[in-house]
Amino acid sequence: MSYQVLARKWRPRDFGSLVGQEHVVRALRHALEQKRLHHAYLFAGTRGVGKTTLARILAKCLNCETGVTPQPCGKCTACLEIDAGRFVDLLEVDAATNTRVDEMRQLLETAQYVPSRGRYKVYVIDEVHMLSASAFNAMLKTLEEPPEHLKFILATTDPQKIPVTVLSRCLQFNLKQMLPAAIAAHLSRVLENENVEFDREALALISRAAAGSMRDALSLLDQAIAHGGGRVAAAGVREMLGAIDQTHLLRLLAAVAADDPRAAIAVADEMQARSLSFDAALADLAGLLLRIAMAQTVPDALGEDLPERAAIVDLAGRIDAESVQLYYEIALQGREDLPLAPDEHAGFVMTLLRMLAFRPEGASRDRIILEKTKASTPSADKSWPELARQLALTGATRELARNAELRRREGSLFELAVPKEKAYLADRNYQDKLQAALEQHLGSGVTVKVAVGETSGASAAAIENGEREARRAEAARAVRSDGFVQDLVDLFDGKVVDSTVGSKERGTPK
Ligand SMILES: [Zn+2]
Repeated sequence: MSYQVLARKWRPRDFGSLVGQEHVVRALRHALEQKRLHHAYLFAGTRGVGKTTLARILAKCLNCETGVTPQPCGKCTACLEIDAGRFVDLLEVDAATNTRVDEMRQLLETAQYVPSRGRYKVYVIDEVHMLSASAFNAMLKTLEEPPEHLKFILATTDPQKIPVTVLSRCLQFNLKQMLPAAIAAHLSRVLENENVEFDREALALISRAAAGSMRDALSLLDQAIAHGGGRVAAAGVREMLGAIDQTHLLRLLAAVAADDPRAAIAVADEMQARSLSFDAALADLAGLLLRIAMAQTVPDALGEDLPERAAIVDLAGRIDAESVQLYYEIALQGREDLPLAPDEHAGFVMTLLRMLAFRPEGASRDRIILEKTKASTPSADKSWPELARQLALTGATRELARNAELRRREGSLFELAVPKEKAYLADRNYQDKLQAALEQHLGSGVTVKVAVGETSGASAAAIENGEREARRAEAARAVRSDGFVQDLVDLFDGKVVDSTVGSKERGTPK
């Protein structure tokens, strides 16, 4: 037995099995029941939403031997021949390949003859917007004075391109894009009937990739069955689609939220090692940011069955709404710029660095710091730079807080250290001011002691320098791999001096 592709095998043969177009089906059923038949129908909608399927079902409704009906019998010669695609009075024309006026004239000439088998001659013209102006004119004459036995069913992905004179003579139906949940539900019915094992996440991935087209979803499902050796599992589907594992993107956003360029670039490198598409990654990243924004504004709209729901809700609590909007814009812009980048990896990294460099004034950073500080115990090591950033300080006292490392904290005692070259900051006067600011911030008595000596690069200033250096190194890398720069280097036998490469600096935190 030969294998029949799922899209064909599961093509709906009646209104009842058509998924996702209930509003159109309801109107058509009603018209057929009332026998209020129009002579021209127009089905508009994106690819794969069921336009020609609907046209064939309607052709059966009109020609079923049991009479004009919203429920064709599916057994008479007319029904069977329409299903098999060999009913003589059903003509399907693809306007994309038959745009010329002579072809249209020829077709319309035959329209004058009465049907040979059926009740109606049904002309289905797919992609009708592709017809030439003169072909539309020829059709218009027939539409103005249609023979009783003739029905036109026009289908288009682009109704805007159809002359209004033609549009006004058609009963127009707009078919909806299929929602991923509706597609997934249909796929699971198909697989249950086909006795194929599957997991829900795999179907969610396919539904998302099908972008509203049931036909594409079923073709992908065919491939997934073949790819998975008769089983449809998330890991295999992800691999088949070349889909970006959402965990990569979640880790990326977590790194951006934590203001950690090293971690963000490490994820990008990992993605490159796996040859993942950065264009698809940016599209997915924008999709992820949209879901984070939804989690922040309309949490109910976030599907319960979303595989990465918990992680999205977590990020929604860690990134402020304004930054989410900004990152979304940057992701879209990054995708647009990608073809212009030296290479995809560089373009992707640059997009991440933009997210890290530009953030709304006073946003995110403070909130993250606040949450980290809250979460860390008072005696923690690492929280000093964050605490230092939060204190309302100016001048040399601010420099002291930024350049000092916390050696030890015991109760209300803070033992700090500054490097030798910053010894002047250990001045008692600055120490007292820092102590006062800490007391005010913590709301309790504090003792600050500052020593001069060995430091380990854990001060706020050292951390910021490191980050700046990482950004500059990445910018320098991007510049070096730029085609134009390489040409210049070759032409003048030159060399890129990394230290002269600038990168966008974030404003100094308050
Ligand atoms: Zn029938």
